[in-house]
Amino acid sequence: MNGHRLMLGEWELVALSDGFFRLDGGSMFGVIPKPLWERKKPADERNRIRLGLNSLLVKTPQALVLLESGIGDKMSPKEEDLYGLERQNSLLRALEEEGCDPEDIDFVIHSHLHLDHCGWATREADGIFKPTFPRARYVVQSREWDAATNPDLRSRASYDERDFSALERKGLLAPVDGEAEILPGIRVMHTGGHTPGHQVTYFESEGARCVFLGDLVPTQAHLKVNWHMGWDLFPLELMEVKGKVLMEAVRRRDLLFFTHEDQNPFAYVEGEGGRLHIVPVDNHPPSV
Ligand SMILES: [Zn+2]
Repeated sequence: MNGHRLMLGEWELVALSDGFFRLDGGSMFGVIPKPLWERKKPADERNRIRLGLNSLLVKTPQALVLLESGIGDKMSPKEEDLYGLERQNSLLRALEEEGCDPEDIDFVIHSHLHLDHCGWATREADGIFKPTFPRARYVVQSREWDAATNPDLRSRASYDERDFSALERKGLLAPVDGEAEILPGIRVMHTGGHTPGHQVTYFESEGARCVFLGDLVPTQAHLKVNWHMGWDLFPLELMEVKGKVLMEAVRRRDLLFFTHEDQNPFAYVEGEGGRLHIVPVDNHPPSV
């Protein structure tokens, strides 16, 4: 997986893996009947489907930007079994292989703060959790911060405050509201839908654009607007934003990045009138 690397204009995009995990297939496709989703994502004997834990490293001449920080190392052996965690490698090892020290990262952008997205944001040392990327600004929507630090009954198990409370304490938290430019050509946009403060990130270099989808569209099997997760807190809001983001991606020929795809996380999308299909990246060089 770590071989997935592309040029976007003059920027290098590198997909990094924190391994794979498994979630109940029904929960990943909400109201969609199993005979339909199973053709795209076969279930194991515990009805779970295999999901990637994909991060994206963006190398610009000015900055190193990391999108999502995997599931981390805070799970108990029991949880690792429950979630079918498979890991030959970790995000930190993948970064090291890429020649990146944690100190080199300038920005860490999380789509939201669920524990399978910000696991390596902090690490434990001598019983204290500290930010893993000590020089980085950690970008998250204020609304997501509020939801994660004061979770509702349904979301309580999806957040782990050990992943993020040190970020505020150490002054590394960079909360944003709605749409915000992080650097020239890098822009986050609030989507809501999955969580109150979920966001997507757009990267644009020399006219070529990539959208980091987070859990707005977790895998390539979630392309249909009504194929969304049972976990989504605001389904109608999600469907509306997802439709807009994907139609614009068709029109603008945006490169897409899927956080939970267990195959290639990069793809393009084509189609009309809600009938969309995936176009593998090899058929479309991203540089225009
Ligand atoms: Zn997720």
